Amino acid sequence: MSAQMHSEGEEYVTMLHGAGGLVMHDFIKKYILRLFGDLSGGEVSLKALDDAAVVSDIVLKSDSHAVKPIFFPGGDIGRLAVSGTVNDISVLGAEPVALACGLILEEGLPLNDLERILRSMRETCIEAGVAVVTGDTKVVEKGNMGGCIINTSGIGIRTDALEKNIAVVKKYRANFSSRWILDSNLKAGDKIILSGTIGNHGLAVLSAQEGLSFSGDIKSDVQPLNLMIKRLLGEVGGIVTMKDPTRGGLADALNELSEKSKVGILIYEDKIPIRDSVKAACGMLGLDPLEIGNEGKIVIGVVKEKAEEALNLLKETSEGKYAEIIGESTKDFSGVAMQTVIGGRRIIPRPLGDPIPRIC
Ligand code: MG
Repeated sequence: MSAQMHSEGEEYVTMLHGAGGLVMHDFIKKYILRLFGDLSGGEVSLKALDDAAVVSDIVLKSDSHAVKPIFFPGGDIGRLAVSGTVNDISVLGAEPVALACGLILEEGLPLNDLERILRSMRETCIEAGVAVVTGDTKVVEKGNMGGCIINTSGIGIRTDALEKNIAVVKKYRANFSSRWILDSNLKAGDKIILSGTIGNHGLAVLSAQEGLSFSGDIKSDVQPLNLMIKRLLGEVGGIVTMKDPTRGGLADALNELSEKSKVGILIYEDKIPIRDSVKAACGMLGLDPLEIGNEGKIVIGVVKEKAEEALNLLKETSEGKYAEIIGESTKDFSGVAMQTVIGGRRIIPRPLGDPIPRIC
């Protein structure tokens, strides 16, 4: 309990408000959409609650990164801050071009740690081909912040790759009218691809938080995916929707797509790529790998005629070499269901929130 006493009947912010999943989505609708939804217009507005917005043909995204601890196996807050915003812009089909970076530093953060984080941001920017062009630095008194919080905002632009992708979609779906790759674009019959193994990032952060060591050396997958996505759009096409399964994991991402597109999604348990070490750690900790956040993966909805070709291209890339077609969308039911390895079907509900706190 904080120094301020909580008064009865008053509601307070909890960790679940920032954990992806039902509680956070309800919070966003109740506060953010209610107070700002009517102020926003244009092609992809706040009301779409997609990974980013579109204003005057520019894709715009802002994302604060509060991962704790700031260094974890496989990455750090700097790599995360660049990758998170780059990926959210890329999944709309745009090419990220510039970032703004807001640093909120906690008094007492070693400058050597800060330099390490900024170098990591620089390297990730070079890897993704984006630049930090503006920003801001604030310092707050020592508390429980964990060293620093980094906000990155970014803009992305339309590319020939996106135009080619949409032309391919229209070959198979003449009435396709979206100019962007949106959560609401999925139709019954589309195939669902997952670009690689899930659960790695959340477990890597958890191991750093709790001082756990897992067998099999679990590392975060945090990485920018814009180059892989650009190839997918420009060289194959037929992609209708994309989403990065971050907080709340694959379960939350699929429910979001299903709800916004108003189609059911059926996935096959034996097709979902999960490393044995992640399965074992999840089993030991009682965690569901489907609900754990990832930072280097995407869920892709593709017209069925292009699914195999899309999968083959992904498998050629280092970011997508463990990709699989994990299911398809259907009009037979609503929501998300999984065909299990033992032959039954299980409903995959939207999680309340990611089981691991402050993973991004
Ligand atoms: Mg996202």
